[in-house]
Amino acid sequence: MKAHDGMYIDGEWRAAAGRDTIAVLNPVDEQLIDHVPAGTAEDVDAAVRAARAALPAWAATPPAERAAKLAALRDGLLARKDEIAATISAELGAPLPFAQAVQTGLPIAVAGSYADLAASYAFEEKIGNSTVHLEPVGVVGAITPWNYPLHQIVNKVAPALAAGCTVVLKPAEDTPLTAQLFAEAVHDIGLPAGVFNLVTGLGPVAGQALAEHDGVDLVSFTGSTAVGRQIGATAGAAVKRVALELGGKSANVILPSADLAKAVNVGVANVMGNSGQTCSAWTRMLVHADQYDEAVELASAAAAKYTVGDRVGPLVNAKQLTRVRGYIDKGVEEGARIVAGGSEAPLERGYYVAPTVFADVTPEMTIAQEEIFGPVVSLIRYEDEDDALRIANGTVYGLAGAVWAGDEAEAVAFARRMDTGQVDINGGRFNPLAPFGGYKQSGVGRELGVHGLTEYLQTKSLQF
Ligand code: NAP
Ligand code: MG
Repeated sequence: MKAHDGMYIDGEWRAAAGRDTIAVLNPVDEQLIDHVPAGTAEDVDAAVRAARAALPAWAATPPAERAAKLAALRDGLLARKDEIAATISAELGAPLPFAQAVQTGLPIAVAGSYADLAASYAFEEKIGNSTVHLEPVGVVGAITPWNYPLHQIVNKVAPALAAGCTVVLKPAEDTPLTAQLFAEAVHDIGLPAGVFNLVTGLGPVAGQALAEHDGVDLVSFTGSTAVGRQIGATAGAAVKRVALELGGKSANVILPSADLAKAVNVGVANVMGNSGQTCSAWTRMLVHADQYDEAVELASAAAAKYTVGDRVGPLVNAKQLTRVRGYIDKGVEEGARIVAGGSEAPLERGYYVAPTVFADVTPEMTIAQEEIFGPVVSLIRYEDEDDALRIANGTVYGLAGAVWAGDEAEAVAFARRMDTGQVDINGGRFNPLAPFGGYKQSGVGRELGVHGLTEYLQTKSLQF
C-alpha cells in the first residue's frame, strides 16, 4: 500500500492543514517505509465537526443496520488480511506469522463480535414503570498505541459504532499505515460520511487536541500511565467520559502443586510474544522457594528457544530500545541476576533485544515494579501463599495475571484474592468476549464483548 498524504475526514481523503509529516520506519532494518501527514489541532477540529454532524443520523440508525455495517467491515478486513498483516509486520516489526494470526486475526474476530452484539443487544429495558433507553454517548475521541495496531483500533471503533457513536481516531505515530488501511476498509463499506474519521499525528499535538476538544463526549485512550493520567485529568475537568487502558506488571503465580515445567514454559512464551510489548504480559513469575532453582533453569532454557529475528521481532522504535535496555541495566545494578539474554544488541541492525530472564529479583526492585515493555521476565521467590499474594498485589498495576495449581479450585481461590482485571487459570485461553481492563492504575473502564459495548452507552429513563 502507498500511504495516503491526507486525513480521512467526512468520508474522504483530504489534504492536511499543515505540511509536517511523520516518517514511518521498519524496526527490523531501520529503513524508511513511507511518510504520513502530522495532523494539527485544525485537522482534529475538522474531524470532530464531521463526527458531530454525522452523529444524529448514525445514532438513529437501527442497531440491525449498524450490525450489518460492522459485519461488512469484518468481511472487508478479512478480504485484506494479507495486506494488513504485511503492513503491521513492516511498521511494527512483528514476525509475519504473529502478525497474521494474532495482530490481524484477533481484531477481525473482534469486529465480528461487535456485528453480533449490535444485532443482539437490548438497547432498551423495562424497570418498573420506566423504559430505559441505552443511547450512544456521542462523539468518541480514540487514541491508540502501536503495540497491537489494528486490535487497539478495533477495540474502540467497533463498539463505538455498534453503540451508535461517531469516532475520531488518532493512532500511534509509529503505526499509522495500519490505521490508514483500516480507514480504507471503513470507506469501502459505505459508512455515512463523518461516522469514522482518521487524523494521523503526534500525541502531544493531535492527540492532545483531540482529548481537549469540546466536541468530544468520550475519550478512549490506551497507552502509558503517564499520558493516561493527563488525559484523565483533562476529561475530568471537562466532565467528559473517559476510558483508560494503561500499563501492567502482571504476576504469573505458580503454586507448589502446579505442573512447574508447563507453567514456566507458557509463562515465558506469554512474555516473549510481540517482543514483550503487551500490556497484559505476565512479566513477573512468582515461584515457591523450594522450586525456585528448578524454575530458573526451566525459564532460561525456554528463553533460549526464542531466537531473535524469526521468532522474536524487534521493539517498535529506538526510544523503546533505549528504555528497555535501560531497565535491564537497572536490574543488574539493583542486584538481579541475568540467566538469559541481557542488554547487549543481539543483531547488528534493528531495534532488537534478546529474550531476557532475570533471577534473584526481589519485589521492590525497579524491574519488579515498572512496566518494561520488552522481552524481559523476572523470577521472584515466595515463601508461602500469603507471601505470593502480597507480592502479586504489590504494584500500582492490576491488569492481568495467571495462577497455576494442581487443582483448579485452588487456583481459582487464589485468583479471587488478586487485585487484577483478568486471570488465566492453568493456561486458560484468551477470550475476546471477556471484559479486558484494569484494577488500580491499570486503567478505568473495560474493552471487548458486551462490557466494551456498554462503555459507549448512556442511559435515559422514561417514566410511565
Ligand atoms: P504513549 O505515548 O502513551 O502513546 C499512546 C498514544 O497516546 C499514542 O497515540 C500517542 O501518540 C498518544 N499520546 C502521547 N502523548 C499524548 C498526549 N499528551 N495527549 C494525547 N495523546 C498522546 O505511549 P508510548 O510513548 O508509545 O509508549 C511508552 C510506554 O507506554 C511503553 O513503554 C509502555 O510501558 C506503555 N504502553 C502501554 C500500552 C498498553 O497497551 N497499555 C501500549 C503502548 C505503550 P504518539 O504515538 O505520537 O506518541
Ligand atoms: Mg509517545
